[in-house]
Amino acid sequence: MPKVTLISHTPEPEKTVAAAAKLCYSNTGADKLMENLTADKAAGFVQMLAEIGHESPIEHASFTFAIEGVSRAFLAQITRHRIASYSVQSQRYVNKGQFEYILPPEIEAEPQAKAEFLQAMAEAEHHYERIAEILAGTHKARLLQQGMDEKEAAKKAAKMAIEDARFVLPNACDTKMVVTMNARSLLNFFRHRCCSRAQWEIREVADEMLRQVCQVAPNLFAQAGPPCVSGPCPEGKMSCGEMLKVRERYIQMKTGEVE
Ligand SMILES: Cc1cc2nc3c(=O)[nH]c(=O)nc-3n(C[C@H](O)[C@H](O)[C@H](O)COP(=O)(O)OP(=O)(O)OC[C@H]3O[C@@H](n4cnc5c(N)ncnc54)[C@H](O)[C@@H]3O)c2cc1C
Repeated sequence: MPKVTLISHTPEPEKTVAAAAKLCYSNTGADKLMENLTADKAAGFVQMLAEIGHESPIEHASFTFAIEGVSRAFLAQITRHRIASYSVQSQRYVNKGQFEYILPPEIEAEPQAKAEFLQAMAEAEHHYERIAEILAGTHKARLLQQGMDEKEAAKKAAKMAIEDARFVLPNACDTKMVVTMNARSLLNFFRHRCCSRAQWEIREVADEMLRQVCQVAPNLFAQAGPPCVSGPCPEGKMSCGEMLKVRERYIQMKTGEVE
């Protein structure tokens, strides 16, 4: 089960966006930008930006998430979103002996598939440890020959060994990261990844990210979610055909009626 935590965000995100919009549409100076900018007025500016499709002011609000308990397959997908900043646990420096892995629910539900999966994980772990051990021995011998002292050589050799041993680790291997996106990039992320065509793991994380940002900036994300939340489904033949159900689900999520 992925764990998503909104660890920080631009203070008063909607007010910040509203100040940027106010600057665009009036001759207010910097010293007066935040003046009289009540929550209601900020909401009005944010709604107006959404209506006219003026998206650049919403780039001034950023949101930072810690995401844990996700697979390397998830990592490959989320990092395709280029308008974001990422810090990811390194497999070069963290020893993955006895690694944790993500067991997809569909595999868990099928005993034969689950047994195959668990065997594959155990084998990957065994090969990882053996390769690391063999390489560490080779590296250490060479470093000792080069005159390095025993303790330092062992430490350096172990580090060098896991750099290559990690090549046998599977997509299921668990990882964690910190991700920052601005509101505009998040809206694009939610459009792609909350859609039922997205893969289950990234969809689960995207839904949770959306739920959490709605608690701190409900107006900014009022129309967020898959495209069918705010308009027609663009998926054509690949549409899930459940637009009304999807819309209802996102309304409930944003109003806090579902967990
Ligand atoms: C259901 C699904 C299936 C997918 N299948 C595949 C697949 O089979 N193979 C695959 O490779 N990917 C696949 N993807 C990934 C997808 O193609 C995008 O790479 C990913 O969703 C990131 O979206 P993005 O480029 O809009 O996001 P970002 O990289 O965050 O970009 C945001 C926006 O900025 C603009 N932008 C960013 N960079 C550029 C640029 N260089 N030039 C012009 N405009 C730019 C674009 O308007 C873009 O929408 C899939 C995604 C989904 C949701």
